[in-house]
Amino acid sequence: MKKIINKVHIIGAGLAGLSTTVNAIKKNIDCEIYESSKIAGGRCRSFFDKKINLEIDNGNHLVFSANKNFLDFCESIGTLKTFKLISTNLIFFDLNSSNKWEISFDKNIFKEIFYKCPIPQTIFFDYLSFFKFLLVKSKTTVHELVGKSKIYKTFWEPFTLAVMNTSPNFASAKVLSNVLKETIFKGKKNCLIYQPLENWEKSLIQPALKFIKKHNVQINYNETLKKVFIDQGKIKKLVFTTKEVEINSDDRVIFAIPPSNINKLFPDYSLPCDYNTILNIHYKVSSINQKLFKNEISGFINTVSQWIFVKKDCISVTVSDANKFNTINSNDITEIVWEEICAFIGEKIPYLSSQVIKEKKATYIQSPKNNSLVQKFNNMKKNNIFAGDWTQNNLPCTIEASILSGKKAIELL
Ligand SMILES: Cc1cc2nc3c(=O)[nH]c(=O)nc-3n(C[C@H](O)[C@H](O)[C@H](O)COP(=O)(O)OP(=O)(O)OC[C@H]3O[C@@H](n4cnc5c(N)ncnc54)[C@H](O)[C@@H]3O)c2cc1C
Repeated sequence: MKKIINKVHIIGAGLAGLSTTVNAIKKNIDCEIYESSKIAGGRCRSFFDKKINLEIDNGNHLVFSANKNFLDFCESIGTLKTFKLISTNLIFFDLNSSNKWEISFDKNIFKEIFYKCPIPQTIFFDYLSFFKFLLVKSKTTVHELVGKSKIYKTFWEPFTLAVMNTSPNFASAKVLSNVLKETIFKGKKNCLIYQPLENWEKSLIQPALKFIKKHNVQINYNETLKKVFIDQGKIKKLVFTTKEVEINSDDRVIFAIPPSNINKLFPDYSLPCDYNTILNIHYKVSSINQKLFKNEISGFINTVSQWIFVKKDCISVTVSDANKFNTINSNDITEIVWEEICAFIGEKIPYLSSQVIKEKKATYIQSPKNNSLVQKFNNMKKNNIFAGDWTQNNLPCTIEASILSGKKAIELL
């Protein structure tokens, strides 16, 4: 028998909430969104920053061409043309040895890796660690699996940090293996990288909001869900900052919010509670100096900097697993990282302005233990569902996972 749904109340207007809404609209389900802050986008947003005098993204979000739920979402809201596909020609730079090498994932990957052995002082056998990811136990960490590999420091560590925002000492090898199986193991067509032509706000958030507005779905901004009233296992009332909403018997509630905020509403739930910061340092440089940076993406080894991105208007550095920098002065970080960048290009050049963004709680620590907490979490309650990047425990906490969670939430109704 077909379930009758009167209305879906969606909590959170991050990508999971927006994806939930777009999927509800596509199925003609009436819905309404409630969002804590005054804007949508959550952990994926862009803004004009006065200090650097540029519009910047809160983070350098990369999306692999393998991410089909991201692509479907962009197609639904008609925004694919606002993205560019870039080659995964990664330049690596080791500050200790000054060695540079290139790994291209958009050529014949196995030839690039096993035949060329791109990392200095490595041979074919050092790359066999890739095959260890074919069969992985759920309790194994990346370090336990490949910590002894000769390419651990030069490949597995930077790759794990980039994909999982978690040190390989803690990162689930199973989750990383799922990513490898969808990307590198499937070949170059799955390894290209989607980047917005301008920024994430213009390419993803605003088009999603335009689609939602066109279908007359209301978004209530500045409405934090403070309390949930439950009776006989069913949600009866939601209490927000300024309004209270009665939940009728044919209504559903979808919580598209992170586990830390779920725990404020439901303190008894066992959910991951340890998080990692992602640090981004944006530098505006003169257009002449910008040309000194040849590759769009470079990986740094034996440095504070981990990945350098050459954007349209600035040079942007990402440091994952960055809790240790939460208490360090931003000016000090800016100078340390800039020295590393100058060493990379082999020239001491000035930057014009800069900004440091510390995204505390960027993702939870994606360890086997936290992964099993999420897996055990019983998603389906009587009249509510949980969405959000963290709910897709086979995937890292990413844009793909958040968009997929919204799609699944509507399918589960
Ligand atoms: C710096 C940084 C870099 C990243 N890099 C990448 C990358 O390279 N590639 C990639 O794929 N992913 C990346 N990510 C991860 C990606 O951004 C997230 O996985 C995704 O944006 C999460 O979306 P979400 O909707 O699940 O959660 P969120 O974005 O956290 O959305 C939750 C929303 O709910 C609202 N909310 C919370 N509590 C309440 C409440 N009680 N009542 C009402 N509203 C509430 C919040 O305000 C927020 O808007 C990065 C994240 C960061 C922070």
